[in-house]
Amino acid sequence: MPTPIRLLLILGLIAARLPAAESTSPRIDFEKYNPTSTLVVPETPITRAKFPFIDVHNHQRDLRSQDLGALLRQMDELNMTVMVNLSGGSGASLAAAATRIKSVAPSRLVLFANLNFSGFGTEGWTEKAAATLAADHTGGARGLKLFKGYGMNTKDQDGKRIPLDDPRMDPIWAKCGELKIPVLIHTGEPRSFWDPMDGKNERWLELILHPSRRQSADRTASFDQLIREQTNIFRRHPRTTFIAAHFDWHANDLQKLGSLLDELPNMYVETGAIIAELGRQPKAARKFFERFQDRILFGKDSWVPSEYATYFRVFETEDEYFPYHKKYHAFWAMYGMGLPDGVLKKIYYKNALRIIPDLDRSLFPE
Ligand SMILES: [Zn+2]
Repeated sequence: MPTPIRLLLILGLIAARLPAAESTSPRIDFEKYNPTSTLVVPETPITRAKFPFIDVHNHQRDLRSQDLGALLRQMDELNMTVMVNLSGGSGASLAAAATRIKSVAPSRLVLFANLNFSGFGTEGWTEKAAATLAADHTGGARGLKLFKGYGMNTKDQDGKRIPLDDPRMDPIWAKCGELKIPVLIHTGEPRSFWDPMDGKNERWLELILHPSRRQSADRTASFDQLIREQTNIFRRHPRTTFIAAHFDWHANDLQKLGSLLDELPNMYVETGAIIAELGRQPKAARKFFERFQDRILFGKDSWVPSEYATYFRVFETEDEYFPYHKKYHAFWAMYGMGLPDGVLKKIYYKNALRIIPDLDRSLFPE
């Protein structure tokens, strides 16, 4: 007669030899795993900003030929009063776009000029570029935009990388100060783009989907090197206003960014493409926004009107755990910062009104 204990042991041995129940659903990969949250909390979706706002980081294909009426209607739906198109170009095309804007929507669209680096290093490049910039300013440019290639892969005439703080650029930065136009500079990429491609890389999905975004110190320069070079420019030109695009790629390290802003009173930042970083640290981000409320501008970058909702919701609400719009930027959920109206107004328009010349203040509340 088996004792009850022996019986249990035998049953256990039989169970261990049976094959485990096969899962009937196939495994899915990380890209497809996107569970719908079961959390029930108050939701405050926002498709229109609480105050009229200025987007200082936008790109439009060609304001000479685009349907501006349609563009203005899309802007109106978001409560976007002014759009800054950073791809203004230079010379005749910039002037033509500026003329068209003047006749259709003089106070709604703003152009920043761009530089042409071909022939950099040849005799007279700097003087010519400074003169072109001054002419573009006369033609309607209200700022200068440097694309991310500058510092990473823009080469001089000998095929060498132009460091951001190359002294041959000094007269250009000085010219912007003289003309009282801001420089919006996009330096580098998220730090993770330089990190090893493994399961610990926060941008692994983005880099798998867009392998060309991977960076390496030997191909360009390290992330820290680029930031050091950029900081040198800001230090050397205290009378020029610089807006570091994408929160200087430090939205995930607000302490470091705070120390840069403390040191450099001519440095500003804009929020293009980094809302997911703020939305995962709403308490620290709110403190940062309160502290640096005079130094932050609203920017978005890619023109996808539906994505602005995430920005409004993170800035304006105290909602918890809501989705972000692009998984390869953030596989985590967002939380609202609940910014007070006074801070919101500065971020949405007051700071831009102060920095970008000749904007129409009458379009905005006190
Ligand atoms: Zn951009």
